[in-house]
Amino acid sequence: MLRFDIITIFPEMFGPVFNSSILKRAQEKKKVAIHVHDLRDYTGDKKHRKVDDRPFGGGPGMVLMPQPLFDAVKSIKGMRPATVIYTSPAGKPFSQSHAKALTKAKNLIIICGHYEGIDQRVREQLVDEEISVGDYVLTGGELPAMIITDAITRLIPGVLGKEESLLHESFQNNLLEGPQYTRPANFRGKKVPDVLLSGNHKLIKNWQNSKALAKTKKVRPDLLEKKDGV
Ligand code: SAM
Repeated sequence: MLRFDIITIFPEMFGPVFNSSILKRAQEKKKVAIHVHDLRDYTGDKKHRKVDDRPFGGGPGMVLMPQPLFDAVKSIKGMRPATVIYTSPAGKPFSQSHAKALTKAKNLIIICGHYEGIDQRVREQLVDEEISVGDYVLTGGELPAMIITDAITRLIPGVLGKEESLLHESFQNNLLEGPQYTRPANFRGKKVPDVLLSGNHKLIKNWQNSKALAKTKKVRPDLLEKKDGV
């Protein structure tokens, strides 16, 4: 079972996401275990529960101090060895193939930055991988940690049922997913393509493939240049 340990100063953000839908089911099925740790529980400043301070050299905002992060990671790693991920806009862009590779891990610690980020010594001495969820800056690493946890978990064999099968999802075979329709066959004059009602599975498959290819060419031509699966 893959275990996630998430270190954050906003632990209350995670409950609704981790206790819903597939992430909830994956935990119930014992495919993953998710533990959220409040960084403030590890600070040496028991009185004020302080975890951040001003950056040396000046500049705006606050930086998460090394001591609470070192102690949190030490305490979690003391129980089991783990790969440490730091969510960062300066990290490697996250992808489906990266998520797939991480399904093989046993224990992942995810550090959520906040304010201006975390002390460089944590990045150099504790962090194995820095992951970015996109070329934009978020307020904190909590949403990225949820994204990373979700993307990995749904790729673990046995997590998704047949209904949510991975086979037709975007990024399989370097293609984006094509259009999908459900009832009614005619909605306010807009009809579902005839081929989907034909019952001819081969024709349907060809149509879906051609639509997926056309969509990918239009929106993400870069995917088609990749040799391996994304
Ligand atoms: N000063 C940092 C910089 O310019 O790179 C940005 C800090 S950001 C306001 C606070 C935290 O949010 C970061 O430490 C990181 O953990 C998280 N974060 C923000 N954007 C992210 C992204 N695109 N991917 C992953 N984590 C992100």
